[in-house]
Formats: sequence, structure tokens, C-alpha cells
Amino acid sequence: MKVVAKFGGSVLRDAEGYARAAEVVKSLSEDGSKVAVVVSAMKGVTDSLLKVSGRLPKDWRKYVEALERRHVRVLDELGSSAKWRKRVRSLFEELARVLWALEILKESTPRTKDFVLSFGERLSSTLMAAALERAGVRAEPVTAGEAGIFTDENYNEAVPLYEVIEKEVPERIEPLLDDGIVPVVTGFLGSTVNGSITTLGRGGSDLTATILGSSLRADEVRLYTDIDGIKTANPKEFPDAITIRELSVEEAIELAHLGAKRLHPRTFEPVIRRHVDVRVLSLYDPKGNSTLISVGKRGPMLKAVTMVNGLSIITVKGVGMVGTRGVAASVMEAASKVGANIYAISQPVSEVTISIAIKSDKATQVSSAIKNALAGHGITVETKVRSEVTAVSIVGRGLEEASFVGEALAPLKGHPVLMISKGPLDQSLTVLTTSRGSRELAGLYHRKIIEGMIEYYGETK
Ligand code: ASP
Ligand code: MG
Repeated sequence: MKVVAKFGGSVLRDAEGYARAAEVVKSLSEDGSKVAVVVSAMKGVTDSLLKVSGRLPKDWRKYVEALERRHVRVLDELGSSAKWRKRVRSLFEELARVLWALEILKESTPRTKDFVLSFGERLSSTLMAAALERAGVRAEPVTAGEAGIFTDENYNEAVPLYEVIEKEVPERIEPLLDDGIVPVVTGFLGSTVNGSITTLGRGGSDLTATILGSSLRADEVRLYTDIDGIKTANPKEFPDAITIRELSVEEAIELAHLGAKRLHPRTFEPVIRRHVDVRVLSLYDPKGNSTLISVGKRGPMLKAVTMVNGLSIITVKGVGMVGTRGVAASVMEAASKVGANIYAISQPVSEVTISIAIKSDKATQVSSAIKNALAGHGITVETKVRSEVTAVSIVGRGLEEASFVGEALAPLKGHPVLMISKGPLDQSLTVLTTSRGSRELAGLYHRKIIEGMIEYYGETK
């Protein structure tokens, strides 16, 4: 087997986290697998680096010293050899020099920001190499540039150059794997073809893992985290939530956008390109439950329910709107100019109203922006804001089947439905309801989902 094992910041908190991850890698390679590792920065380190990556605080040296102490403590506790200590020390020297230069130059650009952020993952891959060495596994830290993860120059949200990557990554990584060396690749980072460091956007380490997995044609990409897979609902709200065993890539993307799991939606781009399997599992119980994400529809019709609270629905109403071109466009544009993200849109065929759902904090602003925009086109409208709204969304392949949608609507009986959104290609359906009744409605859906799982698999784990 060829496996890419990614360890996120949530499990890399201290020496114990690195040691545990190293044990998992060791047992994978003892089972005969070739393993490439991807690491995020230690927990909280990217956030700390963000504080010194923009306008530098006067006491930036203190932040850097605190970070250095944290990393050195991990090396101490791991009983690391001198080689890795030296490397960590020189990374901190480099970071201090860079920040000092930026302070003098009073410079802060997207490019310098990415450079500063890169230290989190560069340090973390060194710690992981130290932990692997202690576990008796030969390992080598590899930067994204060395691994061949090339991107465009869109600093902070760089776009991977897949064609180059798919050629370069195997050429650079396969020889290590063939020699029995575990490459420990920095997650989240990329490199322009000219060698400048870029980042893939917050939470981008998962994307690094799937990029490597698809380029190396791995059998599986394993995302080790602190929970045993993706759940049918947020376990904080629904303690009886269970692990979803199988998800299609489309369902996973839908869930990522709905914020159910801290997955970067772009994580799945490489998976779609090359159909690599992704497994989300717990570092603390790697043989326990897990979620397998792959291309193709599997498992029960419905997979999960999510809630988004704190929404408002703005309804725009006016006789002048009927049959007038460009009204919907003006409404959307007004919302976007205020910087409000639109969660759902609805317009009856009669065209007498248009409703949009947005976060409540922007509601008043958006509402007057819409009125002004339409007034500019000579159309007078009234706007009505309804707050205390919650979006309850269900996700599952069944929703793509027109004949199943009716069944999915059945639990709504007796619940206030303020708005519904569902397109023909959507694998999710969103109901906007009063926040007060939303928990109950989501609970009904959750029960339906679990029943569907039991029916499909014959039991639940
Ligand atoms: N360290 C980066 C972040 O905190 C990338 C990641 O964790 O995936 O966003
Ligand atoms: Mg992370």
C-alpha cells in the first residue's frame, strides 16, 4: 500500500502528539506500506505567526521567543538528536532576521506574510522528523517547494499548478519512498516556479495531503484528527451523532461548505482529478471508526444534518419588480457590495418578491443598500427583515434524485418553513426556519438519518 498520512494541528499540540503520530507511521510502515507524511503547524502556531505577519507589534521578539520555547520543549521531551535541534534553532534565527528586516523596511505584503507563516509548518516537519527518528523510522523533512508543490503567485490563497505538480512530485518523492525514507512534507505551503513560498489558504494542509496522494497515486490519503471521522451532526449539539462510514466527494464538499467539519472545500480538487480515496480518522483510535470519502455514490440517501444560526431573511417587495429585468441582479449586487455572503435565495414565479438569507449583523445595511440600488433604477420597493432565523440543511446523495425530495420534505410537517432552497443538482436541501424551533427540526432529521444508516448497514457502530 502507498499511504499519505496527514496530521493536523489539532493533534500536534505537544511532544505526545508527535510521538503518537510517529507510532502510527511506524506501524503503517511495519505493515509494509510506503508512507509520505504531511504536517500542519503545531496547534495555535499559525495564529501566533499571523500576529507578527502583518503590522509588527513592538514586542514581536517576545512572541518569537515564546514560540521557540514551545518548539524546543517538544524536542526536549522527545529526546531529539542534535541534528533536529540545530535545524529548529536555525529556523528561529531565520524568522528573527526576517521579522527584523520587515520591521526596518516597514514592509508587509501578501508575499512576506506567506513567508512568515511558512515557519509554522517548516518547524513542525522538523519536529515530526525528530519524533520519527526516535521511533526508529528514517525520515526527512521536505518543504513544499522541494516536494514539487508548485502554485501560481496568488499569495495567501495560491492555486496549485496541477499539471506541473503531477509531474514533479513523483520525481522528487518516489526516490525517498523507494529508499525506505519517510518524507515529512510541510502542509499548507506551496512554491512559485521561481521559488517564493506561497500558502494555500487557512486549513490548507488537507489540500497538501490530497495533492500528494493524487500525484503519487496513493491507495489512501489518511487525515488523522481528534475525532473518529465525519459525523451525522455536530456532536456538541447532538451527542448521539455517529460516524458517517462512506461519503461521496460531492457530499463531502457540500458538508465542507456547510461548515460541518473543518475541511477546506478545495481539499477535494485533486481527488476529483484522480480519484484517490480519503479517510478521516482519529489519531487516538486509528483502528476505530472512520469516514471514507471517495468518488461515486455509496451509503444511505441522507448523510448529515447541519445548522447555521444567526441569520436574517430580507424580503424585497414591490409591484414595479414584476417582469422587470435586472431586479434580482441589483439585489445580489447590493448584498455583495456590503460584503454580505448570501446563504439562500428564493423568488416565486410571480416575481412579486425576492428573498435572501444573510448573517443578521449585516441585515440593516444590506436592506437599505437594496432599496437604494433599486431606487437608482427607478423601482420603489419595500424591504422586510425577519431575524432569528436558522438554516437547517440536510446532505446526501438522495437529494439529487427528484423522486426522493418529497420524502425529505416530510419531517417539515408542523414546522414553520420560512424559505426552502434546493436546486436540481444539489446534494443538500436547506430549510430556513425560526431559530426557536430549529433544534427540534434538526433533531427530527437526525433521527431519520440514523434510521437510514441502520437500514442500509444493518447496524450502527
Ligand atoms: N496551519 C495552517 C492553518 O492553521 C494550515 C492547516 O492547519 O491546515 O490554517
Ligand atoms: Mg489545521
